[in-house]
Amino acid sequence: MKNIAVLGSTGSIGRQTLEVISNLGPGYRVVALAAGSNDRLLAEQVKRFRPEMAALSDMEAAGRLAERVRSENCLVEGGPDGQLAAATWPSAGLIVMAQVGFSGFEPLVAALKDGKMIALSNKESLVVGGEILERLGMLDRNRIFPVDSEHSAIWQCLGSPTSTAEVNRIFLTASGGPFFGWKIKKLERVTAEMALKHPNWQMGAKITIDSATMMNKGLEAIEAKWLFDLSLEQIEVVIHRQSIIHSMVEYIDGSIIAQLGRPDMQLPIQYALTYPERKASRTERYNPFGQTLNFEQPDRENFPCLELAFQAARAGGTMPAVLNGANEIAVEKFLSGSIGFTQIPQVIERVMLRHDIVENPGFEDVIEADSWSRRKAAGIIDELTGRVI
Ligand code: MG
Repeated sequence: MKNIAVLGSTGSIGRQTLEVISNLGPGYRVVALAAGSNDRLLAEQVKRFRPEMAALSDMEAAGRLAERVRSENCLVEGGPDGQLAAATWPSAGLIVMAQVGFSGFEPLVAALKDGKMIALSNKESLVVGGEILERLGMLDRNRIFPVDSEHSAIWQCLGSPTSTAEVNRIFLTASGGPFFGWKIKKLERVTAEMALKHPNWQMGAKITIDSATMMNKGLEAIEAKWLFDLSLEQIEVVIHRQSIIHSMVEYIDGSIIAQLGRPDMQLPIQYALTYPERKASRTERYNPFGQTLNFEQPDRENFPCLELAFQAARAGGTMPAVLNGANEIAVEKFLSGSIGFTQIPQVIERVMLRHDIVENPGFEDVIEADSWSRRKAAGIIDELTGRVI
């Protein structure tokens, strides 16, 4: 029996994870659920999956949840402590981390400290915390199973997360998003509505915007660096419009191994849940007959977020946390219509330029860098939009 906790259960990956668990049937049990503020959906999930505990970050929403599931035998917790309780829930062996953004960082640290197995979808937690977790010897690669499709692909090509000594480089594939081939002038007119339509993947709002700016691939490069113990020079981003090859590994002898499949998150989610086994799945099959697969260079000039992420990773210390915090604010402000699409990288770059890096940061330094970055980004956005002169 695999006892599973799902954090971020009301989001896109969380909901798909629960569908996969439901399809897998006996042998997979949900023991804890956690989300942000959606008490209505979490209550439905509690009634359907009957976990031992459920948590919401929002205290008022947690109160409403307790009311909604009063007749269930389920402990309800609220606030940040509830998220940590779900991440370290005693009967849970595998923790699915499907939260959005920096909010995944502290639960990941808590789950690692507690010796849990982790199915990791929340890439931001490794972006901000990879360096410190590695330095403290907490990045146990045998306990972290990637859910991100590209990283799942690399993991499957490697066979084992620790066999990277024979790897020359990896090809991290990117669809290029809805605006591939567009230049700055045209990108200036992109609206949130346009950016939310991804050609291949159905995802949450934040990651869909990150895909459109290419920041997602930058964050994924940093995620891959820590997950597979690679140098940045070993990570090659390649545009692959069809999203059929989910990434490739080139070994030192020149042999390249790729993982293919239709773009459907249920597959990488399921593999992280059933690993080391494979189980039958309901995903649609890829039919290779008559198909063509193309590969191109990414456009770093018109999509500067990709390069900003590599710069932050090279700088190290607290800079990746600053990149991530500024990006989260910029994306939020773009979605609400306060800034334009091409202002997202401008905001991030300005915040990064003003940051004094803390080398070898502790957990508190990372948390402080994240909130500093958010404040700075908000201030810079006020300047850009003319609210402060
Ligand atoms: Mg991905």
